[in-house]
Amino acid sequence: MTPPHPAPSLGRVALLGVGLIGSSLARVLRREGMASSIVANARTQATRDKVMELGLADAVFADPAEAADGADVIVLCTPLGAYVDLVTAIAPRLKPGAIVTDVGSVKHAVVRELAPLIPAGVHLVPAHPVAGTEHSGPEAGFADLFQGRWCILTPEQGTDAAATAKIAAMWKRAGSLVEIMDARHHDLVLAVTSHLPHLIAFNIVGVAADLELVTESEVIKYSAGGFRDFTRIAASDPVMWRDIFLANREAVLEMLGRFNEDLARLQRAIRWGDGETLRDLFTRTRRIRREIVDAGQANSGKP
Ligand code: NAP
Repeated sequence: MTPPHPAPSLGRVALLGVGLIGSSLARVLRREGMASSIVANARTQATRDKVMELGLADAVFADPAEAADGADVIVLCTPLGAYVDLVTAIAPRLKPGAIVTDVGSVKHAVVRELAPLIPAGVHLVPAHPVAGTEHSGPEAGFADLFQGRWCILTPEQGTDAAATAKIAAMWKRAGSLVEIMDARHHDLVLAVTSHLPHLIAFNIVGVAADLELVTESEVIKYSAGGFRDFTRIAASDPVMWRDIFLANREAVLEMLGRFNEDLARLQRAIRWGDGETLRDLFTRTRRIRREIVDAGQANSGKP
């Protein structure tokens, strides 16, 4: 067995937002002893109470600036649309040498908006753990969420190498495979592998719900025919996904253009009885599924 990656000493870690991802990271930080203390910021009293009840943090604050005060590592774990307000609020309290990182699903727009708000001497190391489930909130998290999954870091050129290495070490210790990538490239890749599939799922479930000739009970009764798998994806958090599409507009629109062209090709093949085109595509797609299974990326990892 390969020895575990060494646990970095992160000092005081502030988690801003404690939902599925933030609470999973809190559990990992605790399990691996990476933080000297964990403080959290949560917007609602219900989440603050839950954070303390589950022992996810040593202290929880309603004010993000209080949570960030004196922290060595600050992790943004909210939907993307909350980032600018959060960083504007915490910026005056960030200490020199602190690292601001995040877990957001879009990177270029985030880096572009956050970089000017970060005070000199504070390091910004954007990150995206490519792991998740359709569930939300602090109770949905679990420490093995990141095990065997990729985590992509997108530091701008010139970012302090030691800060990047520290965040990389944190994710490696969480069980992730870490890759450094250009932020724009990240957004294109994720548009294909995550954002477009979600958009298709949201749309298909919406179409089925709107079809008047199919009753709702039939949709539920016969969902095992393929629809069910789409409904799982389409049950993901509405605010988080709204923010992802708004933040990754360019890349998603580009991929959607490609998707529509290929769909039109399939439409033509069905219309003209061109079985060869259909079988060729389905053979290729089946191979991709096998490759994902072989790479150990086929299940959500949820116990
Ligand atoms: P989540 O379970 O819905 O939790 C979101 C947290 O952010 C909650 O603590 C919530 O507080 C807080 N929050 C929401 N809106 C806020 C606002 N306007 N201001 C301040 N706090 C706010 O979400 P999640 O799934 O952990 O996702 C968090 C981030 O991780 C997102 O940026 C997402 O892109 C990224 N991500 C998600 C996945 C996934 O599969 N879910 C995977 C990878 C990355 P309350 O509970 O108090 O409302």
